[in-house]
Amino acid sequence: GGRVVPVEVRACQITYHDQEATYLLLRDVTESRHAREEILAANRKLKELDRLKSDFLNTVSHELRTPLTSIKWSTESLSGLNESWDKETFEKLLRIIREDNKRLTSLIEQLLSFSRLDAGQLAPKFEPVELKDLSEKAILELSPIADAKQIRVSLSGSPVTVSADREQIRLVMTNLIDNAIKYSRTEGPITVEITDHQSHAILSVKDSGIGINNADINSIFDRFFRSDAPEVRDEAGTGLGLSIVRGILDTHSGSIDVTSTQGQGSEFRVSLPTTQKLESS
Ligand code: ADP
Repeated sequence: GGRVVPVEVRACQITYHDQEATYLLLRDVTESRHAREEILAANRKLKELDRLKSDFLNTVSHELRTPLTSIKWSTESLSGLNESWDKETFEKLLRIIREDNKRLTSLIEQLLSFSRLDAGQLAPKFEPVELKDLSEKAILELSPIADAKQIRVSLSGSPVTVSADREQIRLVMTNLIDNAIKYSRTEGPITVEITDHQSHAILSVKDSGIGINNADINSIFDRFFRSDAPEVRDEAGTGLGLSIVRGILDTHSGSIDVTSTQGQGSEFRVSLPTTQKLESS
């Protein structure tokens, strides 16, 4: 069984005492060929990172510019109101400013948690957290966005206590509920449910919105991923939310899965261990 190896050939002619001789120098270049392939692969990776970076900067700049422009426009309109003082318009402009401000704050919150998670600095501070109560707070926090689309978010199930980082689990909930609202049509109901399965708690967020197609479903937890569907591109977003959710669940020994039918809706199910019964019965 012979082996074929790539070789580099060098020839040289030498004259010695009127004798001419041709020398052939053969060198096995297997190693350097591997090295070259590795360099090419590394270059491809760098290019891909570069593309992700510029995509990301692009989205973030856009996400920052939209509410900032709207705030600028609203404040200019407010300062032009002096003559024809109209209470309704005044309140409307203030509401726009408040909502844009909220949007900017949550964008910054998302960017910060992403970079902390990325740097491994988001170590959870475990404490007893009751999931139903926390869901209620998350739903209340998002009610202005839900109200604007006339969406009712209902909460059901029983209180379950897990050992978790309260702030991080709140982020998991707001990301999932915010997505459910964003990717739902007007009025589409959303249900949040907490259930106790002895060894783990399940948080389910179910919408009857646009759904996710089969080609996208395996990518939605990847950082920066956003579907190309026009209903998704019409909404504000960085593609970071679900990657943050997954990162947080990893540090909590939890998991998340999704079932979805395009055009009919999606259900995200988070599972968190309830290692010990924290509430004595
Ligand atoms: P963003 O919402 O900022 O785009 P996410 O990481 O939260 O980023 O979500 C990634 C992608 O997953 C979204 O762009 C969208 O395509 C899809 N997605 C997430 N949640 C839903 C949902 N409830 N219904 C339909 N598509 C969803």
